[in-house]
Amino acid sequence: MANIAFIGLGNMGGPMAANLIQSGHKVTVFDLSESAMSTLVEQGAQQANTAADAVKHADVVVSMLPAGKHVESLYLDDSNGLKHVMGAGTLVIDSSTIDSATAQRVGKYLNAAGFGFVDAPVSGGVAGAAAGTLTFIVGGCHNHFEQAKPILENMGKNIFHAGEVGAGQVAKICNNMLLSVLMAGTSEALQLAIDNGLDPAVMSDIMLQSSGRNWTLELYNPCPDVMPNVPSSNDYKGGFMVDLMRKDLGLAMETSLQSQSTTPMGALAQSLFSFHSANGHGQKDFSSIFEMFSKNKS
Ligand code: NAD
Repeated sequence: MANIAFIGLGNMGGPMAANLIQSGHKVTVFDLSESAMSTLVEQGAQQANTAADAVKHADVVVSMLPAGKHVESLYLDDSNGLKHVMGAGTLVIDSSTIDSATAQRVGKYLNAAGFGFVDAPVSGGVAGAAAGTLTFIVGGCHNHFEQAKPILENMGKNIFHAGEVGAGQVAKICNNMLLSVLMAGTSEALQLAIDNGLDPAVMSDIMLQSSGRNWTLELYNPCPDVMPNVPSSNDYKGGFMVDLMRKDLGLAMETSLQSQSTTPMGALAQSLFSFHSANGHGQKDFSSIFEMFSKNKS
């Protein structure tokens, strides 16, 4: 069992750290929020007063922070002093969703100081974090990936090695860009069918057995009351928020700019989800993009 420092105990990090405790690891936690730390202490974690205190005796450091600037300031800001207190060979796993360039900068800096680093963003949301069924998409060298894998298996079900440091972040945002396009396209097709007198449940069945078949129709139908137990049948509550999809689409567009890729579908999806958020729907599940097509009809 390992000594693990866990930094960032929000909606995702809290349950992920709890799963590490459940698996028998000694987990020391740090978050800017006292109450987030107390919840984990009740579950058996040790509380640290600073990030540097948390990582002092750690074999592995896991971070789950909101954005690139938080990850950068945690690891690259010398005043935090992390690199001066971490033991030689400590492995850092950053599971935050951030831009690949920042992940590479952090990796290079930590590697040069003698530490291991992988970026390991996740797919699976808050429910997956609680159930320990997340998918981890890892970027890093073979050795660091192999070191990280048994730890990640305590929090997730599928662990992929996408490539070198930063590749995990690229793979994650490519997947989410495609998902946003599929969700918007499926919503548009379903509403076109409804406008022409078809039952959306029948139309969904037809597309599921035809060439339009995709993940949203199989597991996450955006039209209310076609499928039970999905956000669309629960007022678009729960699931994956529009504002988190906007964040990932922003990262996808930044990446596309850097690699001079052609991503018109991603750019359009970014505009649609931004407009939807600006209309007050940022906290709803992302399948609520369906309302953009259906509400305009009433
Ligand atoms: P969150 O806002 O709920 O939690 C972030 C936590 O980090 C907060 O508790 C905050 O206090 C803490 N924090 C911020 N700066 C800190 C610092 N310098 N030191 C210590 N703690 C600090 O966010 P979340 O929903 O848990 O998401 C975390 C990451 O996971 C994000 O990058 C997000 O894009 C990604 N993600 C989220 C979901 C989801 O469904 N929520 C799904 C996949 C990926």
